[in-house]
Amino acid sequence: MKYLSLLLLLSNFSLAAPAAKKIKVVTTLPVLASLAREVGGQHVELSSLLTASIDKAEDPHVIKDKPTFKSLVSKADLFIQVGRSLELWAPLVIKASANPKLISGEALLNASSGILTLEVPTTLSRAHGDVHPQGNPHVWLSPSAALKMSENIKNMLIKIDILHKKDYESNFNTFKHKLTLAMFGAELVKKANNDDFLWRQHEGKKLNEYLSKHKVKLSGWLSDAAQINYSFITYHTVFSYLAHDFNLKIVAHIEEKSGVPPSAAYKNALIKKAQTEQIKHVVVASYYRGMNKIIDYITTKINGRSIFITVDCVPQQSYIDFMSNLLATLIKFK
Ligand SMILES: [Zn+2]
Repeated sequence: MKYLSLLLLLSNFSLAAPAAKKIKVVTTLPVLASLAREVGGQHVELSSLLTASIDKAEDPHVIKDKPTFKSLVSKADLFIQVGRSLELWAPLVIKASANPKLISGEALLNASSGILTLEVPTTLSRAHGDVHPQGNPHVWLSPSAALKMSENIKNMLIKIDILHKKDYESNFNTFKHKLTLAMFGAELVKKANNDDFLWRQHEGKKLNEYLSKHKVKLSGWLSDAAQINYSFITYHTVFSYLAHDFNLKIVAHIEEKSGVPPSAAYKNALIKKAQTEQIKHVVVASYYRGMNKIIDYITTKINGRSIFITVDCVPQQSYIDFMSNLLATLIKFK
């Protein structure tokens, strides 16, 4: 009898439903993994090819293939990149993985799809050394863009895993509401009672009109960012979308073109401009620490201060915490 019970017990175990297979998502940047975590929740297993720490993020333009890439990418059910020629190394990694779903493009997502493009060159060519011939790909420092990226991820997850459509939609809506609260503050979100409406007003530069008409106060990131009341110089075009969303003023880039270090003439003109306009702040993405010689030279010449900032999520960091920290750092730097 005992033996029979044990047999029954064992057979019950074997009949139990197997644990649901998770969707293996590989992203290029940690921020994409963070957004995919918000939307995918328990149904996804995430890996990011690049890493970031508090002090440093890896440079997405020039990352070298690592031995771990091949095994991760070959098993991926979904590969998410920013796109717009940011990750020029990604096609080689995909090819080396021999993953048919990625080679065919069926499970490959360009997260920046449908997002406004800044700094589109008048001639689409790399002839002059410009690393961004399709315009600026550094979209993720814009919360508006992060929302759109998470929506693109949600749509792609539904496409490849229709069974969990409801969960992906619900997770996306939860994230959207959290992001809306962080961006606009509770009072405005309650008054408008429509998250999409607020983002549309913001993107159409009509938010101030709405605020004065309804006598409601702005708080959240948009209000905090008003404290970043200084103009700054940067190295590469990493902060353009942040500046666009939060009305910050970038006076000049130390690079002469994206990916091209400055000539002597360009450097002198930049210093003169900064001196005339009394610019004292130099804000640089942490992966340009290697350019510290030229950055220090310019900073000293303008009698200013420089700061290196990590422009990606550290492991397990939410996009909301990442953006809150980034804005707090810039406020403190004033
Ligand atoms: Zn770039």
